[in-house]
Amino acid sequence: MLKNLTFSLIGLSMATVLASAGIAESKYKPLSVPDNVRVLGSKPREIVWASLSEKEKNLAIHLLAAARAGIPIIYYQNHRHGLLVKKMIETSLNRRNFSKTKALLGDKAFLEFLNYSAKFEDLMGPYSPSNRKFVLSKVTSGQVKILFKRHVGKARTQAVDESVRLLTDPEYEVISQPESADGTDLENSGSNLYAHSLTGAEVTKAFDNGFKSNLNCRISKDASGNVVCQVQALSNPYLSYVVRNALIKIVGELRLALPFASTEHQTNQLRFLISFLEKGDVEDFRQMNVEWVKDAIHSKVDFMMGYVEVYQDYLNHIGAWESYVQIVDPKTTETSASLAKNAQDFEDRMPYGEFKKKFPIDYSPPALMVYYFQEISAFHSGGYNLPNFDDIRRDVGAKNIIKLELLGQDLDPTVLKVRREKYEEFLPKSKVEGVISDWTKQRQALVLLHEIIGHGSGTYDVTKYGEKEDPIGALGALGSALEEQRADMTALVFSGDAHLVKIGFYKDQDEATRVRHEMYDAYLGDFLGILSRDQSFSEPHMRGHWLLINQLLDGGAIEWVSKDGGPLSLENRVFLVKDYEKYFQISLSLLAELQRIKAVRDEAALKNLFTNHAPLSGIDESWAQAMIKRGMGRTFNSGAVEQPWEISKNKVRVFGDVTLEGIANYFGR
Ligand SMILES: [Zn+2]
Repeated sequence: MLKNLTFSLIGLSMATVLASAGIAESKYKPLSVPDNVRVLGSKPREIVWASLSEKEKNLAIHLLAAARAGIPIIYYQNHRHGLLVKKMIETSLNRRNFSKTKALLGDKAFLEFLNYSAKFEDLMGPYSPSNRKFVLSKVTSGQVKILFKRHVGKARTQAVDESVRLLTDPEYEVISQPESADGTDLENSGSNLYAHSLTGAEVTKAFDNGFKSNLNCRISKDASGNVVCQVQALSNPYLSYVVRNALIKIVGELRLALPFASTEHQTNQLRFLISFLEKGDVEDFRQMNVEWVKDAIHSKVDFMMGYVEVYQDYLNHIGAWESYVQIVDPKTTETSASLAKNAQDFEDRMPYGEFKKKFPIDYSPPALMVYYFQEISAFHSGGYNLPNFDDIRRDVGAKNIIKLELLGQDLDPTVLKVRREKYEEFLPKSKVEGVISDWTKQRQALVLLHEIIGHGSGTYDVTKYGEKEDPIGALGALGSALEEQRADMTALVFSGDAHLVKIGFYKDQDEATRVRHEMYDAYLGDFLGILSRDQSFSEPHMRGHWLLINQLLDGGAIEWVSKDGGPLSLENRVFLVKDYEKYFQISLSLLAELQRIKAVRDEAALKNLFTNHAPLSGIDESWAQAMIKRGMGRTFNSGAVEQPWEISKNKVRVFGDVTLEGIANYFGR
């Protein structure tokens, strides 16, 4: 859940007209391949690694190995040909074939292929989190076909043909998953959570007839044409070879990790996870989460693994495989722990009416500041708050993981330069310096409040939901957008709060107020930045931001201005905060409304709110298309990939240098 990502219009009036006229949502457009994907050096891991004891290192070594063994599962989930494409990419770019591939494609197309490959390896498949694929335009389908022939010559013809189209055809399987709950275009979307032949109508019908899905399902048809859940566990004799092979290795490494577990709860966490992967009973996964929450902040090497997040399923049932091995930083964890201790005080001041939580006295949700030593996921986050089982959250609690940049990374001049470029494009000139100078502070405030206070807050009418039902899952595709924006609204509401001064997060109230204003500014610039990168509003966090932006515009808290004071045009327009107090008030009302909808399960209001005030069709408006153009080919939208690394002989070993050409030989390591 609830992860925190980093972040339109004309308005609402126009958007409302489009929605009410029933104009279909824009046809999906693929993303062009970014020109200059950066490489993040992996050497800073050495410092974190050195801080571990021998026993912790042994634990980490097996957890890291288990997590690596899970990588094929992610490719398998993300596209039925994901592993085939991976193999073609890695073989065509390895030391032996690199020059030959470059000669085949020519310099310009090779550069595109290299950037495409970096994205594919980083996202573990063809899709960005915005539910769009990247597509090659300089490399031809003929060239891609040759690469498949050369490097995976034994693959089936149909699989190769479809893979070539996946990489080069701007019309083919552009989306990973349907964008509406009725499953429109399921058969034209690429995700392998559902067998490729299934249609949305078939799935809907099966659910109407009592079919049930679950976290570890892959939905398919059996021999007689019935829709079935293929449980992704070793006990299932029909499990695909790829997943079986991966699970066997994972379970083997998790067993080897057992003697090195730091606490009894961590031992139990490992045991329940093993059982879940062997037998497939989701109750074991729930218990694994319970043990993880109970282990709190006691294990310096902490981990999460399994079919965790449901963002990638259009029905929010099936979990995407992911794993995190994180190393806790005890010093900064003090700050997050003291924030967590104030959870009740924040709760008391929430605009939640009767749906406020009463935490037990002395209760504080565990909040860990960590280095993401290894993040294996199709989705990068700045923190997460789990479990997604709301009854566990209610009865046992939840745990917050907040990402720290690896030591030195936040001073990296390239990172700073790229950040400045983004804000110079998408903020009024007068706001750029402030946002940049307090960037880390406002970002930390946003993430801490989002995760620790936001997601953990509020109760709901239990009679409206099933006994073990998670409200977010129950609310369907818009549930995630609601929950993520609810957490962000908490951050926007409390970012200048006196309690943050009291716990020492800010040095005084002046700083608190200044950083709050800069957070408000940055939120608008980030929104335009993400819009230019994602080229759609469909990703759940983004959909929620879109809702807020519309309300801020409507309520007169923000307005369009030209960034440098000249006449307003599509090329220079950015948002300016007109009234910070209004911004705050609108945030507070939106927080109240989102919580109300969740608490009483007002599904009609949820649908109405997002359809009319955050329509996906907004992307077709001229200002949105202009933002996309402004972000095209810019470094801030290209993203970064990690320099390959491994633990070898008890040491961090890095491969290649920090250029794309320098690491391409090592993709897949
Ligand atoms: Zn979140």
